[in-house]
Amino acid sequence: PIEPAAPKARRSAQARVAWGANVVTVGGDAPVRVQSMTNTDTEDAIATAIQVKELALAGSELVRITVNTPEAAKQVPYIREQLDRMGIAVPLVGDFHYNGHRLLTEFPDCAQALSKYRINPGNVGKGDKKDRQFAQMVEAALRYDKPVRIGVNWGSLDQELLAQLMDENAQRAQPWDAKQVMYEALITSAIQSAKLAEELGMRHEQVLLSCKVSGVQDLISVYRELARRCDYPLHLGLTEAGMGTKGTVASSVAMGILLQEGIGDTIRVSLTPQPGESRTQEVVIASEILQALGLRSFVPSVTACPGCGRTTSTTFQELAKQIDDYLRAQMPVWRAKYPGVEKMKVAVMGCIVNGPGESKHADIGISLPGTGEAPAAPVFIDGQKAMTLRGENIAREFHQIVEKYIEK
Ligand code: SF4
Repeated sequence: PIEPAAPKARRSAQARVAWGANVVTVGGDAPVRVQSMTNTDTEDAIATAIQVKELALAGSELVRITVNTPEAAKQVPYIREQLDRMGIAVPLVGDFHYNGHRLLTEFPDCAQALSKYRINPGNVGKGDKKDRQFAQMVEAALRYDKPVRIGVNWGSLDQELLAQLMDENAQRAQPWDAKQVMYEALITSAIQSAKLAEELGMRHEQVLLSCKVSGVQDLISVYRELARRCDYPLHLGLTEAGMGTKGTVASSVAMGILLQEGIGDTIRVSLTPQPGESRTQEVVIASEILQALGLRSFVPSVTACPGCGRTTSTTFQELAKQIDDYLRAQMPVWRAKYPGVEKMKVAVMGCIVNGPGESKHADIGISLPGTGEAPAAPVFIDGQKAMTLRGENIAREFHQIVEKYIEK
């Protein structure tokens, strides 16, 4: 028999990202989490709180915000307060570069209001200041009991470490190529910093790692090795993935391969929004990646055929879109009201060729009439033909049947 494909079990420690009485676990037996980041100026607390709310409502389970100036740090507690007031239960992760040691030390309310700190070891400091400033950030994490993510990025890699590894490479009888040295530098930077954080007192499971690169094959190479060398929870993302279709496809391909291998405990799709495009699109895509792999279920899935010369009208495409939009829009209410509804499958098909078969595989499905077929649309419920719709109101009637099915 053919073994059904499935994502491999993950093996990682479990971090606790907490705020107030709430906790989001990351790693271990927790589901792979969807993460996102705001693109507002954090000094504009209201705009930032509104965007965090939008991202959370779209399904982001952790939201990172830039904390880059004293004024931004001052606003963080207020942003947290606004989210609590609106009932938005999502942890805020502070993204620090260059001055995180100062901001976390000088603004204790900010350090307290955040639920996790991202430390970039590539820009935490230079020379003899590096370890001291890194230690200052870890001290804040210990004082306020926060996890940290050691977030390495090849756009801001620790240049001293890279130079050292290049020197070592030059001594090799058979030197590695430049890319291999870069991979080693990314992984070494992350793991060395994690070990240092532990030496300073961080609990092992409260240290998360990421090594982001912008090439699909590079990401796969780096994360496979990173996962082999440690069991810290891993945050996965293709950095600077790009815009639109290119960014979506590159992120999906890279993360899909790694997640199937059990690598990755949180994911972020780093899309460059097109003018006018909502930031929440990256959350939708990340959720879809996890749902497509069968790792999570967020919304009922709608199976629809592409349509072809046998399709008589656009009715079935319109119906598929209407049903998909409707199901998504209802989820904030349904999630609590109808547990398990997110696992439901609906099929909307364009003709008799694959229509009845696909509809039978779904919980509820409809096969609309194609060219030359009788003007009748059989509806299948739980694998059985339940009724046939005819006439002008097929779309509306099917909509009602789906609603009733969910209520039942
Ligand atoms: Fe074409 Fe029918 Fe297949 Fe849809 S189900 S793609 S309409 S043949």
